[in-house]
Amino acid sequence: MLLRAPAPPPKDVDLSRTYDAVIVGSGAAGGMAAHVLTSHGLDVLMLEAGKKLDIEAELKSMEWPYDHPRRGEKPYTSHALRFNEYTVRQPPYAQGSPWKTVDSYVQGWGGSDYTKNIVVNEQDHPYTGTRYAWVRARVLGGKTNIWGRLALRLSDYDFKAKTHDGYGDDWPISYADIAPYYDKVDLYLGIAGHPEGLPHLPDSLFQRSTRLNAAELRLRQSMARSGRVLTPYRAGVTTDGLKHNKYRSRCLGRGACGRRVGGCDIHAAFDSPTGLIYPALDTGRLTLRTGSIAREVTVDPGTGKARGIAFLDAGSGQALEAKGRVVILAASTLESARLMLLSRSPQHPNGIGNSSGHVGHNFCEHVMGPGVYGFFKDLAGKPRTIDDGRPGGFYIARYRNLRERHPSFIRGYGFEGSSGTEMFPSTTRLTGFGASYKKAVREMSSAAVHMGGFGEVLARYENAVGLDPEVKDKWGIPVLRFSFQFGDNERKMAADMADTAREMFEEAGIDVLHVDRKVLTEGWSIHELGTARMGTDTRTSVLSPFQQSHDVKNLFVVDGSSHVSASCQNPTWTIMALAWRSCDYLADQLRQGSL
Ligand SMILES: Cc1cc2nc3c(=O)[nH]c(=O)nc-3n(C[C@H](O)[C@H](O)[C@H](O)COP(=O)(O)OP(=O)(O)OC[C@H]3O[C@@H](n4cnc5c(N)ncnc54)[C@H](O)[C@@H]3O)c2cc1C
Ligand code: SF4
Repeated sequence: MLLRAPAPPPKDVDLSRTYDAVIVGSGAAGGMAAHVLTSHGLDVLMLEAGKKLDIEAELKSMEWPYDHPRRGEKPYTSHALRFNEYTVRQPPYAQGSPWKTVDSYVQGWGGSDYTKNIVVNEQDHPYTGTRYAWVRARVLGGKTNIWGRLALRLSDYDFKAKTHDGYGDDWPISYADIAPYYDKVDLYLGIAGHPEGLPHLPDSLFQRSTRLNAAELRLRQSMARSGRVLTPYRAGVTTDGLKHNKYRSRCLGRGACGRRVGGCDIHAAFDSPTGLIYPALDTGRLTLRTGSIAREVTVDPGTGKARGIAFLDAGSGQALEAKGRVVILAASTLESARLMLLSRSPQHPNGIGNSSGHVGHNFCEHVMGPGVYGFFKDLAGKPRTIDDGRPGGFYIARYRNLRERHPSFIRGYGFEGSSGTEMFPSTTRLTGFGASYKKAVREMSSAAVHMGGFGEVLARYENAVGLDPEVKDKWGIPVLRFSFQFGDNERKMAADMADTAREMFEEAGIDVLHVDRKVLTEGWSIHELGTARMGTDTRTSVLSPFQQSHDVKNLFVVDGSSHVSASCQNPTWTIMALAWRSCDYLADQLRQGSL
């Protein structure tokens, strides 16, 4: 039987005292800040807007579709936004909607009833401006409760991208600065993968890798002939177990990964509560207040330094303040930018930390959509493997603009994909009905392969978020207005993704059934980055290389907003490595009395 350790009991919140640090947000970034600062012996208060859910009960990882009254779908009174709604309408998408709740598209990936309490109701959380599929999770642990857990490192092809191709700005750090922190994250949280020795996709300190199945292995072998690398999915999952963490089990390969949006109820897959927050609570130095909606960083009128956080109690609406010697924003890229812009005072008329005017700008992410689907015909009807029982299929590392220069675009893209017999196999894209259809799905399952690309969206000053002058959320707080669009580089890159995906499949002997050339709406990747970028020039950047505000030295922003460019590698492992590095620095500075 699997024994689960219960969450540690909460500590009383004391708003009359000044904590060493107040953290806003409990996702990957906030959780890491809590872990590192409490390890340094600091007394920390964490404010989280959402609730603490009984997450195992929500995720129901072992429930079969036929045990659910609607096979995992939400009730008819609810609606999840679809691709066409994002493209033909303008936000706020839930305005005038007849539904009781409206959720972002992520609910449409199947098993939607399981995340209904995790993602926000768009009616309460509107935003305006250009089209954007913005997925938010307001709950303890944020989006880490449902993330896809592809855990990748960036390299100097990313940190020094300007040196490489002349565009944008280099990061003020290099791979050598962050590598020891990637190692710490790997060892503390666990990551499964296979070493490949690639300079542009550095290896982690891997636990046992998941295995490629026959079709995936064949594609890997074919790609190797042209020097391209398909590697088993690098998963932020502990496959060997973590002796230091009683809240997480090793991966038992039960298969829920393949059939729902994230969600591992034994926490083999990393999530911030069991991976970071519960162990921090066990130190006795972390106090957690959920249902606390930060609305402003408060300022000491004498010094202009951050004093704490003004917040609203989500239940009663009561306005409260928490005080800290240091304030750490970790509310996610866009919410942290919103908070900085909301924090206007005589000392910081443009919003706190925004003397450069760059807060909200240089917003970047990943472009998605193009992909390919086909069959290794000779694998049809072969004995089937159980491919749900692993946390992911494969990842194809970037191959564009490394040594050569592509004539029509800069930067690169990678692919996520899989093959095999899953509960909702890709073969269900076959057409037909009845017994012959079921037979075809079964026969072709082990032969079908599909993959989709994730490409770097260039950081551009004009891609930005700001505050809407009129529209407010349910709590009366001004919302974000988007001004964000893909450009020519992204469109040309997306076309190349579709072309090369087809080529790679054909070279491997796969019969291509479908090539997707459509680019999904901005935001679809759920990898928002770069609204308060780091740098050494205080006129063009917001944060120091340690994610410390240039203007307000006791204010740190430790989420993806600090990223200078998006890379094409998924960001969460980098968010946590950077947060760890910055919090080590912060603790040191606090000890020296320099903050
Ligand atoms: C379906 C899905 C799949 C994904 N797959 C991957 C993947 O494979 N690989 C990868 O690297 N990344 C993936 N991501 C992205 C990943 O989840 C994020 O990069 C990561 O969670 C970011 O961490 P964060 O702490 O910045 O933000 P979040 O995890 O969003 O946490 C922010 C927290 O701040 C809280 N908050 C916000 N505003 C306030 C406020 N005003 N006051 C108080 N609290 C506030 C929120 O409630 C939330 O709990 C995926 C995300 C989703 C949803
Ligand atoms: S395959 Fe592993 S990580 Fe995925 S849900 Fe199952 S136990 Fe969790």
